[in-house]
Amino acid sequence: MSLVYLNGEFIPPDQAKVSVFDRGFIFGDGVYEVIPVFGGRMFRLPHHLARLEASLAAIQLRNPHTVRQWNDIFTRLLANNGTADQSVYLQITRGVAARDHAFPPNISPTVFAYASPLNYPPAEQLAKGAAAITAADNRWQRCDIKSIALLANVLLRQQAIEQGAAEAVLVRDGLMTEGAASNIFIVSGDRVITPPKGPYILPGITRDLVVEIAHFHDIDCVEQPVPIGSLRSANEVWMTSSTKEILPITRIDGRPVGDGKQGPMHVRVFALYQQYKQAFIRGEVE
Ligand code: PMP
Repeated sequence: MSLVYLNGEFIPPDQAKVSVFDRGFIFGDGVYEVIPVFGGRMFRLPHHLARLEASLAAIQLRNPHTVRQWNDIFTRLLANNGTADQSVYLQITRGVAARDHAFPPNISPTVFAYASPLNYPPAEQLAKGAAAITAADNRWQRCDIKSIALLANVLLRQQAIEQGAAEAVLVRDGLMTEGAASNIFIVSGDRVITPPKGPYILPGITRDLVVEIAHFHDIDCVEQPVPIGSLRSANEVWMTSSTKEILPITRIDGRPVGDGKQGPMHVRVFALYQQYKQAFIRGEVE
């Protein structure tokens, strides 16, 4: 792997060391971001940095870097990595201090970032789609914060894997929230529906772009609550994330979604999304 960034230094991964008293390690006290990079350009960077700012504000941590400084760090991490798809991971924890729940005064945050290759699902997998399970959303009430404390998400995703599925679609009070590591869309007739933003979902950057693209192309797309019954009777279900883009879910809890194949609305929206991405790579859109 190329160099990673840790607290001001660009160093080989095996030399990047963090204290065992780092509050990220002890408490999961930190936030993170994942930014996809296409053709050497960071996709929706301002949106990711705005979400980072919101996550930091929610945990009362000052952003350690300006936009310019973040840009410089990422650019350096991406240098020499060519034009193949990449992702940049960045994580900020509250820093190192004797173990005590209360915020320690006057400590510096730990800042870590690295770039790695990004491999999207191949066309065959898109056509086939993925399997999902439904599971009770047993996470906390601030799922809008991109917290590094992901134990509930890890257990839910593992539950899906152990049942031969790729994702857990989460349900709280009879309403679908999101996936263990993705946002979820359903298609009902000609209407594309995704749950509204709020404390129970992460405001996904891919989710927002899918909504934006749908609106731009006059596709009927609404942000409204999705009862579990609507999920079960949907013609199509998709999961979205920076690392999966838009992936059809074609089986839920062992039963086919619609006819069990990638649906026509997915074909349409996925193509529009790819067009947007290509225009971004050419520098025609931001
Ligand atoms: N929800 C959760 C819980 C996630 O972990 C992710 C991806 N990390 C998403 C939604 C999708 O967000 P994005 O499109 O910004 O990757």
